[in-house]
Amino acid sequence: MTSTAAARTKIRKSEVTHYKMYIDGKFVGAKGGKTFDVFDPSTEGVIATCPAAGAEDVDRAVKAANRAFYGGWRSVTGQERGRILFRLAERIRARRSELAELETVNSGKPIVESEYDMDDAATCYEYYGGLATKINGEVLPVPADAVAFTMREPVGVAGQIIPWNYPLVMAAWKIAPALAAGCTMVIKPAEQTPLTLLKLAEDFEAVGLPPGVVNVVTGDGPVAGGAIVKHLQVRKIAFTGSSAVGKIIMREAADQLKRVSFELGGKSPNIFFSDADFENAVDGALFGTFINQGEVCSAGSRVLVQRDIYKKFVDAAAAKAKTIRLGPGLDRETKMGPLVSEEQRDRVAGYLKVGRGEAKVAAGGGTPKRFDKGWYIEPTIFYDVDNSAKIAQEEIFGPVMSVIPFKDEADAIRIANATPYGLAAAVWTRDIFRAFRVVKALEAGIVWVNHMQPTFVEAPWGGYKASGFGRELGHWGVEEYLETKQVFINLDEKPIGWY
Ligand code: NDP
Repeated sequence: MTSTAAARTKIRKSEVTHYKMYIDGKFVGAKGGKTFDVFDPSTEGVIATCPAAGAEDVDRAVKAANRAFYGGWRSVTGQERGRILFRLAERIRARRSELAELETVNSGKPIVESEYDMDDAATCYEYYGGLATKINGEVLPVPADAVAFTMREPVGVAGQIIPWNYPLVMAAWKIAPALAAGCTMVIKPAEQTPLTLLKLAEDFEAVGLPPGVVNVVTGDGPVAGGAIVKHLQVRKIAFTGSSAVGKIIMREAADQLKRVSFELGGKSPNIFFSDADFENAVDGALFGTFINQGEVCSAGSRVLVQRDIYKKFVDAAAAKAKTIRLGPGLDRETKMGPLVSEEQRDRVAGYLKVGRGEAKVAAGGGTPKRFDKGWYIEPTIFYDVDNSAKIAQEEIFGPVMSVIPFKDEADAIRIANATPYGLAAAVWTRDIFRAFRVVKALEAGIVWVNHMQPTFVEAPWGGYKASGFGRELGHWGVEEYLETKQVFINLDEKPIGWY
């Protein structure tokens, strides 16, 4: 993302902060001296530059992680790793306002949502701080003349590649379990939103992280991300992002049979039966789609509504969507900020054009006229959408809802599952029998009943089908960074006696 936006905007050079990346315990520039611009999506102005890491910078970071792993980190006790994780959480809580503000300026999201994000990130470090002392193997039921057990050991250097929609939260979901497991890592934030992780890195040494244990490398996806994936000393890749990039990473990782875990896209169904609490249902449809400007992997952007409440539901949802307040994220009244980048705004605007040809518009459908600057998109509701339409099948990653009518339970389940994705789903009904039947029939890694989006660090996160594999959060999250060693001890001193 090199850009001439600095020249286009009136932002003075002195207002641009020049960040460094964090390798082997030091803040450094890229060897080649290249940088890229980072923007405020509400002003379109450049707010920072970051080093554009090349393969040699990634090599330096991976080697530092490898040295740190074999040089002692893997024998640091779970208790000590836990304390470091708790201290990281404390730092996030102490710097909540500063980090939340930076997250909002850099990503566009409303400040209230950024503040929740900081709490979630801190909670994630606390959870894995506790879990670091509870990683153990099992004793296995073998015959009396033997003892067998399993040992859990860290995988080694992890390569972690994260997206721009929840920058510090996504970093926490990757760094915290890897540290709890005893891994070292090289993490690459998205080019659009590297700032809060670099800010947090200022505290890494103070919380007790030895040099090389967590390295933050900034740069272009195919260049810096690609170098992480290909590096021979990286044992495992954890990736969150688009399915398209997931496929590239899987192909590249295949050469070394490198472990991968993927949290990819989604097109999650949010299903409303006519017996659902109507007001809650309408709110749930809007919240499920428009939170974080719709830039959410689990966005409930396919809204399935039973025919007998369909018209009333579309009208009520459209009336509410029109009242959603758009504006700069730092304004506390803002409910929806700009999208993260010009590229993303154009991408979503492209889908709006497609949608206008595929369905009817109940609300929004374009870019708001009242802002001179900022990558805004109106909260948009398309209705009478056929499930085979592009806007019903492809991940838009913006504030765009596709409403699809259905006849009965069987019809709802059929439509809900008719997508390549399987990340999340929600069902709204007051009939407990129906709720459980639908939960069992849905092909998704996360299913909510009478809500959409609540996420708890204790519960597994990940998808079925093309939404990826592996699970983050909870004890499942740490499993992704552990090997299992089987140990067998013979207690019978007699010769084996075979030959
Ligand atoms: P990407 O999948 O391209 O980016 C996610 C991360 O992968 C970024 O850190 C990116 O780096 C990196 N990356 C990109 N290409 C490579 C590569 N060849 N090798 C290794 N790493 C790579 O998402 P986009 O930002 O392009 O967004 C496009 C669409 O992807 C969205 O509209 C949305 O549909 C989907 N998406 C889904 C997310 C989810 O949580 N499920 C999150 C983000 C996007 P860099 O930033 O430098 O390009």
